Formats: sequence, C-alpha cells, structure tokens
Amino acid sequence: MADLSPALPAPAAAELVAAASKGDVRALARLVSLVENRSPQLRLVMQLIAPLTGGARIIGLTGSPGVGKSTVTGALIRAYRSQQLRVGVLAVDPTSPFSGGALLGDRVRMQDHATDEGVFIRSMASRGQLGGLSWATPQALRIMDAAGFDVILIETVGVGQAEVEIAALADSTLVVVAPGMGDWVQAAKAGILEIADIFVVNKSDRPGAQEAVRDLRTMLAMARFAEGSWKPPIVATTAATGEGIADLAARLDAHGTWLGESGELDRRRRARARAEISAIALTELRRRIGGLPGESRLDELAGRVASGEIDPYSAADDLIG
Ligand code: GDP
Repeated sequence: MADLSPALPAPAAAELVAAASKGDVRALARLVSLVENRSPQLRLVMQLIAPLTGGARIIGLTGSPGVGKSTVTGALIRAYRSQQLRVGVLAVDPTSPFSGGALLGDRVRMQDHATDEGVFIRSMASRGQLGGLSWATPQALRIMDAAGFDVILIETVGVGQAEVEIAALADSTLVVVAPGMGDWVQAAKAGILEIADIFVVNKSDRPGAQEAVRDLRTMLAMARFAEGSWKPPIVATTAATGEGIADLAARLDAHGTWLGESGELDRRRRARARAEISAIALTELRRRIGGLPGESRLDELAGRVASGEIDPYSAADDLIG
C-alpha cells in the first residue's frame, strides 16, 4: 500500500515519540497520522513506544447514531478532567473515507475541550483500507496510550461488525441506547448485548426511558451469568445536562476494579494483542503476496499453475514460505 506521508527520517520518528510522551499533542497528532497513512516509520514508532504502553484505561462506546454517544463522551471527558485525569478520544468511522477531524468537527459538545491540553480528540476513518479497522485502530490506541493518557474513550458509529470490533479493543464497553428508538431491540439482534459491560440508557429526560430500563432489565434477568462473572449494570443518563454521569463514572471504576481482580483485564489485553499481531501479520502477508502488478512472484507462480507446471498448493507454499 502506498505511503502517502512525506518521508520521515528515523531520528524524527524518535523525536516525535519523545515529544508525544511528554504531552506534546502536535507530535501525538503526527504519530496518529503515520497510522492513517500506513507509514513505514510505524515499525520504528511501535518499537520505541512498546515499553510506554499499558497505562491507559480504554473505554469503548457503541450504539446507534443519534443515541448520544458523543454527548456522553463529552460528559465523561468533563467528569475525568475534574479528577485531573488526561483523556484521549478516538472516534472511528468505518463508513467514512474522511478523517482528521471532519467527523468530529461539528460536534459542539466536544469542542468545549478544544483548548484543554489534557484532552486529545482524534477521528479516524477506515473505509476502503485493507484490514482498516482491525489494523489501524489498535495502533492509534497504542500511540495514545504511550502518550500518557489515563483514559482513552473510543467511539464508533453503530454499524454492526464494527461495534463488536471496537468492543474487542476496549477494557470496558458501554452500549448506549435511547428511549423510543427501539434500538436496543436492534442491538439484541446484532448481538451487541453480549459485548456490553455497562448499559447506558441516555436521554432519560425523554418519555419511554423507564420502559427502556425495564426492558433491558428483563432481558438481563433472562440471561445466565456464570459465578463470579460481571453482570452489566444499567445506568440512566441525561448526558445533555450531565445527569447520571457521575454514576456512570462510578460504575466504570467498579468495572475497572473487577477487571483487575478477576484476571479479566489480563485476558482481554492478551486477546487484543493476539488480534493486533494477526492483523499486522495478515496485512504484511497480503502485501508480500500482492507484490507489484506484472512483476510479482504471485504472477510468476500463477503462470506456472495455469500451465499445469506446478500445483496451487506448492505455489502457495512457495509464496509464503
Ligand atoms: P451520537 O450520534 O450517538 O454521537 O449522538 P449525539 O451525541 O450527537 O446526540 C444526538 C442528539 O441527541 C443531539 O442533538 C444531542 O444534543 C441530543 N442529546 C444527547 N444527549 C441527550 C440527552 O440526554 N437528552 C436529550 N433530550 N437529548 C440529548
């Protein structure tokens, strides 16, 4: 895949990492751009930051468009900032080819934090990218983690598979629903109820909020939870006014404690690393297999298989061996 970023000499990569780890948000933004542009420098960047990672709490927010994810995100930023925590936000839009702020630019509530040095907000688009979401998102998270954020909120627009993928990247996943939209029914269909660590019924100032809470409660009552496992709480919020957000932050803290004590945090982080390694390996393999049109080893082997000289299994072994 073409590297669209201007060539960056190795010392510059090291300088960017050093600056970003000291809180320089411009350096951080450039590092995240390296991910979006699939820069070859990433290999070095990842090497340099590996020892700096692991400190951030990663919280995923998912739910249908319009339920209030951005508003909840903004309210959580405020809650964490009042505890003097540094907060990163990564908004992933798997349906859009645009990035670099377009997605979030019109989200007024988050702009409240535009001048706050302790907040870094970045959107990332992945449509049309090879292995886009699973390849790029964890690397962007890694960079933000290494930059010393205490909390990283990762938000995606609700589009089925992407929601599940985002949940796999987070330590704690919030499934946000709103009353009257029937979207929790759709959520159940899409299987995202299983990924919820906490349910947020936002817009609880609207009619139907109590019913939404009750419906979720009924659904949870029917689910079976193993001994010692986490039973997802339901939190009603009015993110627009901040109501319920302190409760939500407290539930998130409780989930964080449970993750650590149960060994689940370690399990989730290992699962995440496995997925990350696989995504990088598969992307690398595809790159090698693809080669340059007309010149690649694949083309040469294809000719030999087509003419019956060799069989496709031998050719495949030759290609990846
Ligand atoms: P997202 O698409 O899930 O990120 O949703 P947004 O955060 O952009 O919110 C969608 C709309 O719902 C916006 O007009 C918000 O102002 C509004 N909204 C968000 N939270 C609440 C709430 O708690 N109560 C009410 N009444 N409106 C809200």
